[in-house]
Amino acid sequence: MSVTSLALQPFGTTIFADMSALATAHDAINLGQGFPDFEGPESIKEAAIDALRSGSNQYARSQGHVPFVEAVSRKVERHYGLLRDPMTEVGVYSGATEALAAAILGLVDRDDEVIVFEPVYDSYLPLLSLVGAKPRIASLRWPDFAMDREAVEGLFNDKTKLLLLNTPHNPSGKVFSLQDLMFLAELCDRYGVLVVCDEVYEHLTFDCEHVSMATLPGFEDRVLTISSTGKTFSMTGWKIGYAHGSAPLIAAAQSAHQFLTFATATPLQQAMAFALDLPLSFYEGFRAEYTARRHTLLQALEQAGLPTWAPQGTYFILSHIGHLGFYSDRDFAHYLTKEVGVACIPASPFYPTGREEDMQLARFAFCKRLPTIEAAANRLVRLAT
Ligand code: PMP
Ligand code: GLN
Repeated sequence: MSVTSLALQPFGTTIFADMSALATAHDAINLGQGFPDFEGPESIKEAAIDALRSGSNQYARSQGHVPFVEAVSRKVERHYGLLRDPMTEVGVYSGATEALAAAILGLVDRDDEVIVFEPVYDSYLPLLSLVGAKPRIASLRWPDFAMDREAVEGLFNDKTKLLLLNTPHNPSGKVFSLQDLMFLAELCDRYGVLVVCDEVYEHLTFDCEHVSMATLPGFEDRVLTISSTGKTFSMTGWKIGYAHGSAPLIAAAQSAHQFLTFATATPLQQAMAFALDLPLSFYEGFRAEYTARRHTLLQALEQAGLPTWAPQGTYFILSHIGHLGFYSDRDFAHYLTKEVGVACIPASPFYPTGREEDMQLARFAFCKRLPTIEAAANRLVRLAT
């Protein structure tokens, strides 16, 4: 008999851990869980080594190591023109995952309604379940993941506490447009709804611009924006995430963070302070490299005969697998990992409403070296025959 809490029992093991374990067991090329197979900048590692050697090895300030929160404040001013007080309007967490948990635990009460979009990132619903909140789910669907405005509007009411948004969106690759965001902002305004915006892929957009929800007029104080240095600096294992927003929003997340982890690794925050100050050319190079990886994986999937939706952002591509005749996307993902030697992530765990049409999508990650993607391409081509 399981002793896991009733709130968490329904969610089982995260699909990321499952598929990575399967990839390792079968020696498959892992295009499943989103982590780079290359190293982040050497200069950031040197900054961490310097911090370790210079004795930054005790607990950090709980809300964030001062050099790092100051760097976050500089970064959001430079990139978004937002002025955030480093000491009261920035918080630091063990990855965006903990930032999301702290935000939800700190802001949401039992029976509050929270609007999310499916496909929904894997940690959102378990967190809402933990606090006893009611998710209200809007759907983004293949083939273009457009927002059904009427359906979205129908979800808002007087019990709506929060909009939990993710843009650029994992796993679809959709980037919410300015018009999308203005539509959502108008609804949030009408119903007095707060926003937690997960923008961990803020620097990974292709042929379109990421609009940060907090930059919409009147929204600077209503949005808690979450980001992750793991994505931007290719150090997912360091788990340094952060948020910025008005002081009451940061205080709410902090009220949970102080009891979750209290503080995050001091030397790694010190090194990420250095990283956030890297010149704009770093971000341009980052996007250019990802543009090439995206192109190579899109070609590979096309050669494999898989219909794909070219992502506007993130480092993921969704492909439709309906024509291959598998009972479910999970069956396909297992077959692909075991028999073809390429791991992917089935998208159905991200679609809680469970419509059959949504069970035929597979997510492939391109945060990989070009030779890795090319090796995967050579294997995937088997699907076309
Ligand atoms: N949100 C989204 C949408 C993600 O894709 C991820 C995965 N990196 C996270 C949050 C968690 O980020 P972190 O690794 O910094 O905890
Ligand atoms: N965000 C990563 C992904 O979407 C996974 C992070 C995790 O394993 N929790 O693949």
